[in-house]
Amino acid sequence: MTKASTPDTSRAHLLAQAQAEREWDLAVIGGGATGLGVALDAAARGFSVVLLEAEDFSQGTSSRATKLVHGGVRYLAQGNVSLVREALHERATLLANAPHLAQPLAFVMPGFHWWERGFYGIGLKMYDALAGSRGLGATEFLSSAETRALLPTVRRRGLMGGVKYWDGQFDDARLAVALARTAVARGAVMLNHCPVTALRREAGKVRGVIARDAETGVTLTIAAKCVVNATGVWVDDLRNMDRDAGAPEKPGIVAPSQGVHLVVDRAFMPGTHALLVPKTEDGRVLFAVPWLGKTILGTTDTPREDVVREPAPFAEEVQFILREAGRYLDKAPKREDVRSIWVGLRPLVRHGDEDGDNTKQLSREHTVLVGRSGMVTVTGGKWTTYRAMAEDVLERCFDRQLLPRIAKGVTVQLPLLGASRRAGVSLTQAPGEHLYGSEVALLRSLPGADRWLWRDPESGQGGLSEAMVRFAVRHEMARSVEDVLARRSRLLFLDAAEAARQAGAVAAILADELGAAFDAAASQRAFEALARQYHTLP
Ligand SMILES: Cc1cc2nc3c(=O)[nH]c(=O)nc-3n(C[C@H](O)[C@H](O)[C@H](O)COP(=O)(O)OP(=O)(O)OC[C@H]3O[C@@H](n4cnc5c(N)ncnc54)[C@H](O)[C@@H]3O)c2cc1C
Repeated sequence: MTKASTPDTSRAHLLAQAQAEREWDLAVIGGGATGLGVALDAAARGFSVVLLEAEDFSQGTSSRATKLVHGGVRYLAQGNVSLVREALHERATLLANAPHLAQPLAFVMPGFHWWERGFYGIGLKMYDALAGSRGLGATEFLSSAETRALLPTVRRRGLMGGVKYWDGQFDDARLAVALARTAVARGAVMLNHCPVTALRREAGKVRGVIARDAETGVTLTIAAKCVVNATGVWVDDLRNMDRDAGAPEKPGIVAPSQGVHLVVDRAFMPGTHALLVPKTEDGRVLFAVPWLGKTILGTTDTPREDVVREPAPFAEEVQFILREAGRYLDKAPKREDVRSIWVGLRPLVRHGDEDGDNTKQLSREHTVLVGRSGMVTVTGGKWTTYRAMAEDVLERCFDRQLLPRIAKGVTVQLPLLGASRRAGVSLTQAPGEHLYGSEVALLRSLPGADRWLWRDPESGQGGLSEAMVRFAVRHEMARSVEDVLARRSRLLFLDAAEAARQAGAVAAILADELGAAFDAAASQRAFEALARQYHTLP
């Protein structure tokens, strides 16, 4: 399969296509991992596809992951072998198709009890066996000296050795943008900042969507043979748009569960290995992951009924992460060390009469439902398996004769735009040109390639250049300061105060790129308010 060339992602071009009078094969609602995967797979099979995202690609849950491309060690402990096997398979596929944005990462589980090394080591050998030929490296038993060599700041007191195993990590938001752009290169129309406000229904069947261009207020009326609702924790809102006037609300299928991450400097855990504590004192899982020059600590799993765009962390969640990180690292991170805090909502699927209060018992697998109206709803699952989920969704569309069947498998070897890894540079290092893969030359051809707005302070390398902001607008569909600093660059997630300091400079470049219609001051102010939330602890 050949690599796609740089597509025309200008908003005017995409909007003009969405406004054309025609019937599309498929309209996808939601531009997170799930919707983007469906749109790309369908476009790659030759269907005509339009995708509408209310905010920005991955603005919902899909930019707030732990950044792991993984089989899910803890799901193996729960005995969910088929889920783990599929995810391990998808892990390898994703790493191969986007090597600039998804790479292998070695994890170390330190052991502080005599039985831990053997117990977890055997489980991880099973993990290797399930990965089979798609494994990334063999699990190894480590002495305490070897454990300390790989995790120099791990607590020494009581350390009895460790186990090293392999999984992957990725830049979730940049991967989302790469999926969107690759889908455009395959002929799809992918529009961010276009919320779907209603469904087009004819004789009880869903035959398209009504959306609003959030920038101009213009209404888009889109006719489609098949509509897929891939709105994550919002799927129930869309399911409720799909009902007759006066009909009662449909019971919800999603039980959101909140996950918090804290980001601290790399000094707390230098090196290129992640730390996994499979069972903290109160039985939870804790990760410390080196990512883009910082360390991510997390996460939590707290039921939450209200679904908001920017959920706030609970004080208990922050205390848990800092307390447990302090137990396993030499130097305990304190509140003032936190550079950024972000919160994501997992769309866990309720089954039968399960109790929504205990989200750990809910399904971590994805669910596809087809309503009487023919609208296909998909939710749950995880980032790692987005590609397989897309295949399942299209299979259901074929079963219900919403679309003519075309064989699956076209995305197995479909490199995403930019697919190429710069030798010797990994995702554990500060952000920089390496994240642009094979598009570095295009990036460097833009004005400001050597004008750095921000440099990573620890390495003095990488950072955010003027050209990266221009690239975000010209090629990556960024429309606001937030789109740039939260998801094209990840500065908001790495250091929220620093991101706020860059808001003015980014707004000025956006104004230059987008012209008079862009309200630079409003975009800057909105971002500064958001950044305050990302560096304010409860
Ligand atoms: C804390 C946390 C950590 C995680 N870590 C990992 C990990 O390390 N690895 C992994 O594989 N998975 C991980 N996951 C799971 C993974 O992030 C999710 O499964 C995945 O991102 C869900 O994607 P989605 O597209 O279904 O939902 P979303 O990303 O939320 O996308 C839904 C989209 O629909 C849009 N939308 C809503 N209403 C409308 C409308 N009316 N019109 C148009 N658009 C609309 C929203 O704006 C949103 O962008 C994690 C999840 C959480 C919460």
